[in-house]
Amino acid sequence: MTYVIGHKSPDLDSVAAAVAYARFKNKMAGTDIYEPARAGELNKETHYLLEKAGIKTPKMPDSLDGEQVILVDHNENSQSLDGIEKAEIVEILDHHKMNFSYDQPIEITVKPWGASCSIIAHKFFENNIDIDKGLALLMLGAVLVDTVITKSPTSTDMDKQMIEKLSEIAEIADWHEFGMEIFKVRSSLEGLAISKIIENDAKEFDLKSGKFFINQLETADLESVKEKESEIMEEMKKLKDEKSYHTVITFITDIINEGSKFLVATDDKEKMEKALGKSLDEDVYLEGVMSRKKQVIPMLSEIFDK
Ligand code: MG
Ligand code: MG
Ligand code: MG
Repeated sequence: MTYVIGHKSPDLDSVAAAVAYARFKNKMAGTDIYEPARAGELNKETHYLLEKAGIKTPKMPDSLDGEQVILVDHNENSQSLDGIEKAEIVEILDHHKMNFSYDQPIEITVKPWGASCSIIAHKFFENNIDIDKGLALLMLGAVLVDTVITKSPTSTDMDKQMIEKLSEIAEIADWHEFGMEIFKVRSSLEGLAISKIIENDAKEFDLKSGKFFINQLETADLESVKEKESEIMEEMKKLKDEKSYHTVITFITDIINEGSKFLVATDDKEKMEKALGKSLDEDVYLEGVMSRKKQVIPMLSEIFDK
């Protein structure tokens, strides 16, 4: 048995990619040895879409110790489920910067596209393997979320092509509208504990200055998040102290106006102000910034990874 698994704090793409790629691998090989798995609790839109697609929730292994695994949607140990150091990584499929070293050659598929599910959809089409309606719906949702309905700077022509093709199979007449429907589910903070909000879509990064915890929220209505900001800040400070992070960031992306508001708890205010180009004593809103991978990380690396 080989697990196909995405990153911790799983987003929709990492869960959908695990489901889709396990299915692809099984069909290609005519087996059922590939099993989709998840590396944490599912977020709201993932629950929503799995249910809508009629696909059962992948199981969460206690540890990857001793297991064979295919990593999807990530390639850094720090983002993997516990035990990854003692797992046998047999393949990687991803759309992020590679930070992976290996002593055996393995199959690696990395493309600079907006979603892991775009890469997998392309593999299905390329190999003439059928995608059923439910799986198409799940993958479509993942591409729409990861590309912020094609508005993110990470979105490519190929993502658009995959969106069109998957929409047809999933019988979604207006994918833009479907994307907004998912973002409404996703950005509703209703009933969510603050501790959940600050790890909504969080990733850890080891920079030379220290450990960074960077969480993203997306909303169609920035104002609606405003009332929770001070509570979110408090919780971020707590997390920073508890886990000895250098910096904890939550950035809230306004998908309509295409910019992000930054909430920051950091050990080095001065350098952070340099990195962001804004004073932390006022609201930090960065016009046009929507991508952690393409914009936020490079901005921080410039200052904190030297
Ligand atoms: Mg992801
Ligand atoms: Mg992704
Ligand atoms: Mg993402």
